[in-house]
Amino acid sequence: MDQKAILNYDEETVRTLGRQGYHFVGTHKHSAVKTCLWLWKSIRGEGNCYKGKFYGISAHRCIQMTPSVFCNQSCLHCWRPLEAFNIETNKREVVWDSPAEIAEGCMNEQKRLISGFKGSPRTDMATFLEAAEPKHVAISLIGEPTLYPYLKELIDEFHAREMTTFVVSNGTKPEVVREINPTQLYLSLNAPEELVYKKIAHGDYWSCIMESLDELSRKECRTVIRITCMEGMNMLNPAGYAELLKHANPDFIEVKGYMHLGYSRKRLSRDAMPAHARVKDFTNEIVDCLDAYRVVDESEISRVVLVSNSSSERII
Ligand code: SF4
Repeated sequence: MDQKAILNYDEETVRTLGRQGYHFVGTHKHSAVKTCLWLWKSIRGEGNCYKGKFYGISAHRCIQMTPSVFCNQSCLHCWRPLEAFNIETNKREVVWDSPAEIAEGCMNEQKRLISGFKGSPRTDMATFLEAAEPKHVAISLIGEPTLYPYLKELIDEFHAREMTTFVVSNGTKPEVVREINPTQLYLSLNAPEELVYKKIAHGDYWSCIMESLDELSRKECRTVIRITCMEGMNMLNPAGYAELLKHANPDFIEVKGYMHLGYSRKRLSRDAMPAHARVKDFTNEIVDCLDAYRVVDESEISRVVLVSNSSSERII
C-alpha cells in the first residue's frame, strides 16, 4: 500500500488503548479490534445486544473493529482520547496496511481473544463454537473508517468470507459513502443545524455531511441514521432533524442516549446522559414531524429507540 497518513499518536497512547481493551491488528497500528461486553454475555447465554434485537446480529459472532483509530472530528461525546488521534495533526507518518492483512488480522485476533472462554464453566460450548466462526463485522469501534483509503476493498474482503458488515461513518467523506456497499450503512447525525454541529463535533464538515445524507438516499444497501442525544447540547429543534432525515430517507433511525464513558467523561458531565424516557420523548418529537416513520422498537438498557421507514422495501 503506498498511500500514507500522518498521525500523531505515540507508543504511550498505543499502550493506553491496549489497557482499555483495544487490540491493534496489522503492521502499522491504525486498525484495532475490541470485544464488547455483549459478546461475553452472549457466549454465556446471558443476553444479546440491541443490534441482535433490532437487526438479528448475534453478538458472539460479531467482530467489532476499525481500520482507522483516528478521526477528523473531535466530538464532545467521543470515547477516544481525541488529542492523540486527530488525523489533522502532523507528527508521525503511517503507511496503510492492506485490506487482506487487516481482515486476516481481525479474524485471528478475535479467535485469540475468545479462546480464554473455552475453559470457563459459565461458557455455553455450542455458542462458543459458533463464536469461533464470526459471521458479522461491525466497522464502528472508534475513529472514522472512511479515512482508510481501501474501505471498499476491506468490506469486499469480509464479504468474500461470507460475513455481513455494518459501517458507521461520521459522513465527512461523501465520496467514500458513495462508493462503499456494506450490508448496512450508518451515518451519524448529531445536530439539526450547522451551529450545533460545530459545537459538538469541532469540525468544519457540515456541507460534506449534507452531501453524504444525499448519497445515503441513493444507496442500495440498508441505511440507518444514528442520532446520539446529549442533554443540554443537541436535543433541540426536532423539526430540523426531521428535515434532514426526510432528505436522507434512511430505512431506520436510531436515536440513542449519550453514555458517560471513556474519555468523553473529561468533556461532558454525567448530566449530559439522558434517561431512556427522555430519549423516547425526543424521538417521538422527531417522528411527529415525519410522515413515513414510526417507532418500532427500543432497548432501555442501551437507551436507544428504533424508528423505521414504512415506505422502505429493504426492511427485514
Ligand atoms: S466522529 Fe466518531 S470517532 Fe470521530 S470524534 Fe466524533 S464520535 Fe469520535
